[in-house]
Amino acid sequence: MQTNFSLAQLKNPATAEAEKILRTCVHCGFCTATCPTFVLLGDELDSPRGRIYLIKDMLEKNKPADETVVKHIDRCLSCLACMSACPSGVNYMHLVDHARSYIEATYKRPLADRLLRAFLGFVLPHRNLFRLALAAAPLAKPFQALYPRLGRTGRRLAAMMRLAPISSRTAPAPRRSEEVLPARAAKTRVALLRGCVQQVLRPGINDAAIRFLSRLGIETVLPQGEGCCGALLHHLGKEKAALAQARTNIDVWSAEIERKGLDAIVVTASGCGTMIKDYGFLLRNNKSYAEKAARISALAKDVTEFLDARELPVLVEPQHKIVAYHAACSLQHGQKIDAAPKELLRQAGFEVRDIPEGHLCCGSAGTYNILEPEIALRLRDRKLENIMRTSPGIIAAGNIGCIAQLASGTSIPVLHTIELLDFAHGGPRPAGLGSTL
Ligand code: SF4
Ligand code: SF4
Repeated sequence: MQTNFSLAQLKNPATAEAEKILRTCVHCGFCTATCPTFVLLGDELDSPRGRIYLIKDMLEKNKPADETVVKHIDRCLSCLACMSACPSGVNYMHLVDHARSYIEATYKRPLADRLLRAFLGFVLPHRNLFRLALAAAPLAKPFQALYPRLGRTGRRLAAMMRLAPISSRTAPAPRRSEEVLPARAAKTRVALLRGCVQQVLRPGINDAAIRFLSRLGIETVLPQGEGCCGALLHHLGKEKAALAQARTNIDVWSAEIERKGLDAIVVTASGCGTMIKDYGFLLRNNKSYAEKAARISALAKDVTEFLDARELPVLVEPQHKIVAYHAACSLQHGQKIDAAPKELLRQAGFEVRDIPEGHLCCGSAGTYNILEPEIALRLRDRKLENIMRTSPGIIAAGNIGCIAQLASGTSIPVLHTIELLDFAHGGPRPAGLGSTL
């Protein structure tokens, strides 16, 4: 694609990077058929190629974002299915990330929109605030039917309420900094990201990971001070705050590397894993952090990616259940991890079934299911219809956002892959599995 940036514009490293990405697009349109919003809405401006043109025009002309750009970029799920489909290697992720922060800097959203985004950006990344918000949610629930009458903001509040019930399966006690030592001497030492939302909604996921790692003779450390990976704020376009969170985590993990060494940073939420693996890029121009960030990114591993390279313990009780494996976009498109989770589940005795249209997003996408509830609901229902075609007893996924999204529309247990692996290897029955399975 030809671009038309001035030399002065290209002095800005972010613009120069965007220009480089734009030039790799040959506008072939292979990406359009895999884009969930194009599949649903059929509008070229809601396709990757259409969005690329909108971003190009906005950046080249150096003009503030307008309503059209904001509407179509906001509708993008950042699912990255377009990157898997693109034959030219267009890094749409970095392009749309830049567009989102450009919008944040140049466009004034309506007040209700700004307030909701500020609320989400303030509460979700902080475990204690999020716990408080969930505790208060039942007070607002009786009025749920009235929300849609309040227009767009009301529909977004209704979406928040719809996603809140999963909180009933939480355990409140926060873990403090600690090291979990296996029974035998550990040769491998890893840090496990606790992060934010998942640790509040489903603390059992990280507990299952710790147990499983311990069974393998791996020491797990939960360093104090680590928190949200920054992805939530990053996808809201709040770049400065997102990078501050990234730097905090980098400092904490770097200190741990200095202290006793780390062989990996294990992540059980694939949305966070994609973000941490991108720290090196995001902080490439920061002299104090570029090297440290690249080192942290290289150490980050999804829990299934980490386990895939290891010899697993003997099964306690092989599970012969049918599992529909939902491939989270951040895992299959963002990190290109596809076979490992399914193979691990198969090794644990589960009958794993692929879901038709597996490349399409379930509509979760960070805060997307709150901010764009109509599209998110349509995608969720489409995903659940496809899941039902596999007649599963259990749905497995590797990302808390997908788990919450799917669980809000089905009574079939939706569990994290590591919870099922831990259960099959002698761990406790995961909360929400049900007694008959
Ligand atoms: S598939 Fe790649 S090269 Fe083709 S239009 Fe989409 S982004 Fe551009
Ligand atoms: S990231 Fe997903 S929603 Fe956004 S343009 Fe690409 S395929 Fe479409």
